[in-house]
Formats: sequence, structure tokens, C-alpha cells
Amino acid sequence: MVRDTKFYDILGVKPGCSQDDLKKAYRKLALKYHPDKNPNEGDKFKLISQAYETLSDPEKKRIYDQGGEQALKEGGVGGGFSSPMDLFDMFFGGTFGGSRGRRRERKGKDVVHQLSVSLEELYKGTVRKLALQKNVICDKCEGRGGKKGATEQCPTCHGTGMQVQIQQLGPGMIQQIQSMCSDCRGQGERINPKDRCKQCQGKKVIRDRKILEVHVDKGMGDGQKIIFNGEGDQEPELEPGDIIIVLDEKEHPIFKRSGNDLIIRQEIQLVEALCGFQKVIRTLDDRDLVITAIPGEVTKHGDIKCVKNEGMPQYKNPFEKGRLIVQFLVIFPNEIDPAIIPTLENCLPPRTEIMIPDQAEECILEPFDPEEEARRRHQKNVYEEDDDHGHGQKVQCATN
Ligand SMILES: [Zn+2]
Ligand SMILES: [Zn+2]
Repeated sequence: MVRDTKFYDILGVKPGCSQDDLKKAYRKLALKYHPDKNPNEGDKFKLISQAYETLSDPEKKRIYDQGGEQALKEGGVGGGFSSPMDLFDMFFGGTFGGSRGRRRERKGKDVVHQLSVSLEELYKGTVRKLALQKNVICDKCEGRGGKKGATEQCPTCHGTGMQVQIQQLGPGMIQQIQSMCSDCRGQGERINPKDRCKQCQGKKVIRDRKILEVHVDKGMGDGQKIIFNGEGDQEPELEPGDIIIVLDEKEHPIFKRSGNDLIIRQEIQLVEALCGFQKVIRTLDDRDLVITAIPGEVTKHGDIKCVKNEGMPQYKNPFEKGRLIVQFLVIFPNEIDPAIIPTLENCLPPRTEIMIPDQAEECILEPFDPEEEARRRHQKNVYEEDDDHGHGQKVQCATN
């Protein structure tokens, strides 16, 4: 029983969801609320990160499920979270994996983009053009920020890149505070304003529009990464980072994907369930498949059958495909004309005979809606919780 659902709510998942669902939820939300894309939602990115970090770790999840956020803090296991940025890099970083740290610092920032693709596109494969903004080395000054030889020692920090402030705390007590020099942003050198490059205003890089051709191969899947090495933001003296495209599979109105299998729900009338049928299924590449139940073969409500090799193509082996799994839903008539019942009964297997004991009691069958029932139970819980805090009584007093 999960007591506190806050972390689940933040990710928009239900307690008991799979690790895959968690990953998917984190992926979508983290990309949406990353400060690069949504600078005004800073806190949200952090919350998403904390929720995912907790729920994706079996031990932390167990503690959280039992005792909520409080237990996590007390247990010491959740004593602090990773930085949201580190978690994001770890999750999306395709190339640097475990070897972060120094090597990482020599490389510019990776840029992660989400690309929404339809199931049809993943089935047939496609090339999508993506227009991106990125930093490139300014071509006017070749990344120097100004004329050749125009760099001079920063007069504010005398080339150290640091500013030292001395504060008198009390008699004979001083405090030194070191901070990055704001005039040269810690570089120790600056470009004389009159020699500054006009194109980049001395920033050494400019924003540029870049069109990427993204090849979406047959059989690729939700969350799959396509990496463009060295196409990320450029910075002087740094190896450029990568552009990482993360595929986001759109939900399809008819087909549901499960690995390489495609699942479809096929409604059939009662007469078709009993007497056989033919149905046409339009595939994702616009072919028509005919499925048949021969007369004499009865299809029950909920029956599942499959067509081999009509599912999704396998990634990198697209001539091999998964299965098309068809689940049959039988539409029953709402009522039947009593006049035809004898004829109908004649055609169907006989009823089972029952014996009604003399003392048996007659009952009335009434409609029962499980959804309505669940709603009512939920409301009752909310009311009881309020009662615990004494609100219930207050309301009573007020009405008296
Ligand atoms: Zn320039
Ligand atoms: Zn300086």
C-alpha cells in the first residue's frame, strides 16, 4: 500500500507501474522542463529528477512506498539527491557513459532534442528534417572574440580570473572571499572594447541555424537515441558536444505496440462470433489484410489470435517482423425479440437444467457499475481523512 503518491503524481504515473513506464515518464518530462527549454520552470525540473531518482531505485522506492518522503529523509538512504543535471546527463548521455569528469570538461555541452514520430514512420522508416539553433565559433574572428593580438590582461583581476574581497569581521579578524572575476568571467584576459569583434560582440561564438537530417530506420522504438557526434554547441578550445535526438513514439489510434508486436482490438457482432466472419485490417504501410473465421468456428469475447510476420519490422533486420495480435470483442445485442427466442434456442446448445428448492427466495438483480463504485469509495476515503483532522465536526457545528 503506497501512502504518499507525490512522486508518482509528479511523474504522472500510478504506483505499481513498470520501470519502463517510469523511464518514459521521466524522459518526456525532463526534456520538456529542462532549464534550457523552459527556464521559468526551474523547480519543476528538480522535482521530476528527485521523483525519478527515488522511484527508479528499488531500495529507495521501497522506503518511500512504505513511509513517504519523511521516511526517506529519516532513513538516510535518501539523504540528498543527485544534481538534476547529472541525472539528466547520465540518462541521456549516449557517448560518455561512465567516463565523466575531466574528459567531460574538455567537451562542449551535449544538446538533447525530442522528436515525435508516428507509428507509421517507425514502420516504414523516414527521413525527418529538424531545424536547430546552436552555438558555432564566430567565423569573423575565428573564435578569438576580437582582432589578432587584441587580448590583454584583465585589468580588474590582473589576469588571475579571481576577485578577492576582504571583509573586516571584528578587531583583528578579517575574512577573505574569493569569487570569479565578473569582468572577464574568470578568463583572466579580455578584449579591449574597441577591438571587439562586431559579429559576436567578443563572445567568440554566434547562434546559427542548422538543419539536421534525421534518419529514422524501420523498427526503431520509443526512447531510442540517434546521436550526431560533434554537432552540439561549439566553444573555443573545446571538442564540440553531441546532438542527441530522442524518439518519442506517438500513440496510434488503432495499433498498440508491444516490442515488435502490434496489438489491435477487433469488434465483431454476435452473429459473426457464432457463424464466422471476414474482416479487413489496414496495415501501417496501407496494405489490406483479410482475416477469416470459417463457419463452424466460434470466436469468444476476449479471444486472442495472431498473424505472424505482420507486426513491426525488426530494427536493423526489417524483413523480419513481429506478430499482429488480434483481440476480439464481441458486440452483444441489447435485447432480443421474445418471439424469436424459441427458434434461437433450437439452434443453440441446450440450457443446463436447474432444480429450485421449495424454500428458495426470489431476488432482484440490479445494475452494478464498478467504476461508479470505485468513485464512491474514493470519496468516502477523502471524507474520512478530513474527519481525522476534526474538519467533519466543525462542519456539523456550523450547520447546527
Ligand atoms: Zn567574432
Ligand atoms: Zn578579470
